[in-house]
Amino acid sequence: MSLTNLLDLLPVEIESLVESLGAPRYRGRQIADWIYRKGVTDLDRMTNLPRELREALAERASVDVPAVERRTPSQDGSQKFVFRFADGARVQSVLMPDGDRLTLCVSTQVGCGFGCAFCLTGAMGLDRNLTTGEIIGQVLGVVRTLPAGQRLTHIVYMGMGEPLANYRATVGSLRLLTDPQALGFSPRRITVSTVGLVSAIERLAHQDLRVNLAISLHATDNETRNRLMPVNKGFAIEELLAACRRFPLPFRQRMTFEYVLLDRVNDSPEDARRLARLLEGIRAKINLIPFNDWPGAGFSRPPVPRILAFQQTLLERGITATVRWSKGEDIGAACGQLSEAVVA
Ligand code: SF4
Repeated sequence: MSLTNLLDLLPVEIESLVESLGAPRYRGRQIADWIYRKGVTDLDRMTNLPRELREALAERASVDVPAVERRTPSQDGSQKFVFRFADGARVQSVLMPDGDRLTLCVSTQVGCGFGCAFCLTGAMGLDRNLTTGEIIGQVLGVVRTLPAGQRLTHIVYMGMGEPLANYRATVGSLRLLTDPQALGFSPRRITVSTVGLVSAIERLAHQDLRVNLAISLHATDNETRNRLMPVNKGFAIEELLAACRRFPLPFRQRMTFEYVLLDRVNDSPEDARRLARLLEGIRAKINLIPFNDWPGAGFSRPPVPRILAFQQTLLERGITATVRWSKGEDIGAACGQLSEAVVA
């Protein structure tokens, strides 16, 4: 019988598991405390649990934090982690310090099946979904490497894969991140990026998770977006933005729209004006991401004056628009645009 990864379970579900083994439910809370507060994942080291419970549990469950296969610091202070799972699959997570913020970008799938034309991850295709425990494992795996006293402040779901295409595991991991008995993050400090899966956005709207949503828009007309992002053939821009308008944004929160600037493809003054019009009525902010070239991409980065002019057009229309210049931020600025291929 394969072992249950306790990182797949909410604390309340760990309570039920220990109860099924004949132990009182509070033992489950103690286990969650070991894992998420004390960083102990070896059941044998959970010394306030009776030995019989530890032994019974070891026959049913384990705590699987994936191995860090490689850790690469980037010039701008960010660090890429390559995690390897038991089946040999690998994903990247990116740690990005920025002032008093420390943001971790996590992956939700091995590869991605959405095939956005400008995306390196998309060029790999989809290998498999990650489990809830494998998403949370990236967080715990990185936290282990932090110096004493340093804490993650933000989590973004912008690594490999489309989080909402792996809906169950993504929502499970969001519940663990925000559960006060587990990682206890404020939902305001968590952002889920999506390519625009309207049906999944509608489902998420009913979950009361209150996390931030980032929409990868990348074009202002359906013809261009169809070409850049095949998902647009199923959910056109109008339908996507209607779902964004219906999404219950918590008070003072804004929805982020990611927009990769591709030279002579989606960066014209008319595109900027149309983008401003499209977002009317949405509490929006825009991240403009000058394209980060990769071999064989077939796109290039617009010249700096064109990027600044695009931003200026949006600012003049009262829209918050920032440009993400540095490489580390690029990595985390839009779903799956990792600058390094990781092939399982
Ligand atoms: S941009 Fe996101 S959804 Fe599109 S192929 Fe890349 S990882 Fe997948």
